[in-house]
Amino acid sequence: MPKASATTLAVITGLIALSIPILAALKLAQYQSLESEKERALSYATEVMGRSERTALQIFDGIEKLVRTRGDSGDDPCSETQIALMREIDLSSSYIQAIGYVSGERMLCSSMGVHPGGLALGPAEQVTRSNALVRTNVRLPTAVPDTTFIVIQRGSYAAIIHKSLPIDVSTQEKDVSLATFTPGYREFRTSRGLVKQEWIDRLQGRNEVTFFDGEYVVAVVQSTRFATGAVAAVPGVYLNTRVREFAMILVPLGLLAGIALAFVARYLTKLQQSLPTLIKAALRKNEFFMVYQPLVDLQTREWVGAEALIRWRRADGTMMRPDQFIPAAEESGMIQRITQHVLQLAAQDVPQIFRQHPDFHIGINLSSADLHAGETVALLQQLLRDASAGPHNILIEATERGFMNADIAREVVRDIRALGIDVAIDDFGTGYSSLSYLESFELDYLKIDKSFVDTIGTDAATSRVVLHIIQMAKSLNLKMIAEGVETEAQEQFLREHGVQFAQGWLFGKPMPVADLASELAKRRPAKPA
Ligand code: C2E
Ligand code: CA
Ligand code: CA
Repeated sequence: MPKASATTLAVITGLIALSIPILAALKLAQYQSLESEKERALSYATEVMGRSERTALQIFDGIEKLVRTRGDSGDDPCSETQIALMREIDLSSSYIQAIGYVSGERMLCSSMGVHPGGLALGPAEQVTRSNALVRTNVRLPTAVPDTTFIVIQRGSYAAIIHKSLPIDVSTQEKDVSLATFTPGYREFRTSRGLVKQEWIDRLQGRNEVTFFDGEYVVAVVQSTRFATGAVAAVPGVYLNTRVREFAMILVPLGLLAGIALAFVARYLTKLQQSLPTLIKAALRKNEFFMVYQPLVDLQTREWVGAEALIRWRRADGTMMRPDQFIPAAEESGMIQRITQHVLQLAAQDVPQIFRQHPDFHIGINLSSADLHAGETVALLQQLLRDASAGPHNILIEATERGFMNADIAREVVRDIRALGIDVAIDDFGTGYSSLSYLESFELDYLKIDKSFVDTIGTDAATSRVVLHIIQMAKSLNLKMIAEGVETEAQEQFLREHGVQFAQGWLFGKPMPVADLASELAKRRPAKPA
């Protein structure tokens, strides 16, 4: 991917990562606000209904008392004792304005006394489930004109209640609408502020419903004990204030989450950034260097050579393993640039070593692509010149995979050997090449892979394979280098079976060239040519 579009992608991913939690926070703020406004509307509606229920309870209790005691006073509903009882009920009830006896549509007597000619109540508009009659607009001549009352009648008794009483609930905002209604009727019994009849329809048999109708957050409830219901509606404007309140808390949290996510996204895009891009940059920034692992003669344990192994220290100090980036470089066609770089680094590192130890050699790993490209030979010639080295100072390590396109590889290997440089087959046995296939190459060394050396002295089924490999090398007339030797038992076994050279932690780990030079100086005093 080109650098610019990779950056753009990273920026876009970052922005998305940043904006998602903020958008989520806003959505959450909206949701939370609506929920809490619904909650508020519901608590108002419930409170109104509670008042309405308590009113009903007081009314029906009172009526029951009057019915019960009526016989005691010679069946005269307006006897002095009955009126006294009415007064008592009236006084002890916080909601009832008056309670009295009704005949036809007139209240003949009440807690206010006997009404000569009766108080005209007018026809009842509503009948409840329990056959109570409800009048919602009764004017009383004795009361303040323009004031209307609700009258609830059961049997021959009725209570007068003040219209505003059930909805006399204190609300935080003045413009919260409240209303009561009789279930089954769309007309409100009493209301304050704007209320809509269709809100009642939303109940649809349920005892409680909350919703936002676009203008109001509405709660509708109905009693399970009495024929009464209540509505509360909070204007939508408060919703917006709520959203702002919630957003003040949630958006900063979302922002934090977003920043965290953006960092994760950045980290991931960085990881995603293709290795080839990173390799290219690393080549430019000189992040690669070489280490050298000694190779010993198993007869003398003398250090006769060293394998050059590439290392990558990234700008942040972390090391990237060759197992990770070499395959990626091979796949993306970057490997030849790495090989070229390796040859340059080696050319800088080793001349002093060759001056001190003219018979010492350096092993160079070549990948498949290198073995299929004619330039490789020229690059090696260049190395010989730059490192003031002879061909015997260089050993080429080529993996089986390198011989994939046999005809070309065979030619390149031949050209390399024509320079006088020895060639080893690396990682032998880990690929899929056959003996006959291998026979068709002219080679000098066979490197026994660490995985086989590991099995020496174990019961692993593959432990016999190493013997076969040794056998094969001998029959092909190849000298052997055992790789990854870690124990003396392995060393002894290999020596006893005729393996000439070995490499591994037992003898030395890969080391910087300066360490190699000083170790060599200790072990084998310079014997210049
Ligand atoms: P390889 O060519 O088989 O190299 C041997 C690997 O085994 C090296 O790992 C070395 O550090 C490790 N090793 C050596 N002795 C021991 C031991 O006794 N015990 C254990 N556990 N490990 C041991 P490294 O350096 O990580 O290299 C891994 C692979 O990367 C190499 O395998 C080689 O295929 C590739 N590679 C390394 N440097 C280069 C290079 O410059 N060019 C190319 N094309 N490939 C390279
Ligand atoms: Ca190697
Ligand atoms: Ca190996």
